This record gives sequence, C-alpha cells and structure tokens, in this order.
Amino acid sequence: MQEMNHDAAARLSAIGAQIAHVARIAKRDPADIELVAISKTKTAEDIIPLIAAGQKVFGENRVQEVQEKWPALLAAYPDVRLHLVGQLQSNKAEAAVALFDVIHSVDRLSLIAALGQAQDKLGKRPRCFLQVNIGEEAQKGGCAIGDLPVLIGAAQGAGLDLVGLMAVPPLDTEAAPYFALLAKLARDNDLSELSMGMSGDFETAIMLGATCIRVGARLFGQRTAF
Ligand SMILES: *Cc1c(COP(=O)(O)O)cnc(C)c1O
Repeated sequence: MQEMNHDAAARLSAIGAQIAHVARIAKRDPADIELVAISKTKTAEDIIPLIAAGQKVFGENRVQEVQEKWPALLAAYPDVRLHLVGQLQSNKAEAAVALFDVIHSVDRLSLIAALGQAQDKLGKRPRCFLQVNIGEEAQKGGCAIGDLPVLIGAAQGAGLDLVGLMAVPPLDTEAAPYFALLAKLARDNDLSELSMGMSGDFETAIMLGATCIRVGARLFGQRTAF
C-alpha cells in the first residue's frame, strides 16, 4: 500500500510538472488546464492513492460502473467530482445528471432533450461538452461537424450549461490537425472550453488550447481492459 501510494503520487506530480512545462511553452496559465483522471476499469484501491495525493477530479465512461464503484468512495471523499467521458444513452440521462459534475459526450438531439428534462427534474445543471466526431469515423461517438450549429442551438434552448467541445481524434494518426480543427470550431461557435488530449497526446492538446485533458494510463498504468 505504501509503495502504491508513492507510485500514484509520483505519477500525478510528473503529469502536473509536464502540464506546467507545456503551459509555459504555450504562454498559458497552467491553472486554466484541468486534469481529469480517467479511472474506468480501476478499483477503489487504485483510485484512493491518487485522491490521497491530491487529485479531486475523476472521469469514467460507463454510468453503471460509476453506480457500482463510486458511492462508497464519494461518501469517504465528498469533495471529489466526477466527469462522464463515455457515450450516454438517453434512458440514463437522469442518472448521469445526478452523478456527474461534467458530461463530455453530448452528441445528439434526443440526448439533449433527455438531459434538459433530467436537469429540470433534479434541479442540477452539470457543465456539458458537445462531442464532435472530428475524424468523421464510421463507428465513433460524437456529432457530425455540420450538425454543430443545430445541436448548439438545441442545447442552449434546453437550458444545458454548454461550455465547449470535446473530441477523440482517430487512433494512430497525428492528433494535432484534429485538435486544431476542434479549437477552430469552438472559436467559430463562441465556446470557450476544449476537452481534448489523452495519455498519448495531452502535451499537443495543451499547445493547441485544451482546457480539459483526460488522462488514464499515464496516471494509473496501462489498462488490461477498455
Ligand atoms: C479511456 C479514455 C481516456 C483516457 O485514455 P488514456 O489513453 O488511458 O489516457 C480519455 N478520454 C476518453 C473518452 C476515454 O474513453
């Protein structure tokens, strides 16, 4: 346990130093870059040392996994905040509004409507990102680039707290052009936040304006399952 604590703290401080280093190069304030620790598939035993080391913001990709794993952790660490970064079914919108402070995967009209209703019912308003299928990949979550104006209007109409755009660029290609495109789309649509950058490319994402980076493997070690 001692050893594990040390590892988690060392990984967290290494990432923090790297964020600060890249922010300096980009002439940005490191405080403007939020680190979301992606804890999907990880157990409470893996997560607690990171909380102990000061990490308060965690991301998950499945509502059901959060419902199983997090209530006990949140009872013990009430200042922890959760972000949803995985695809969300409309019938889980209410559970998502209840559980998460931030939802990164809003990508269609039916989900926007469901989230709007859930917010009204629960009296809670998570921050939301619209997820863009930035590489126009067949099986990927996220809306088509051309649908953005309609979805932005619908999200605002439904009362969502829409703060920015999120994307996961295609695997095994240079991410920078996709990050730059997402940044341009956010600028064109007057949205200030960008959720982009993962373990393999967060430095590039910060250079191109990321305000929220989602890092799993480099904080927890490689996952055996997705
Ligand atoms: C798993 C996941 C991440 C984290 O990926 P790593 O490569 O482990 O850093 C980030 N964003 C989303 C949407 C994910 O599903």
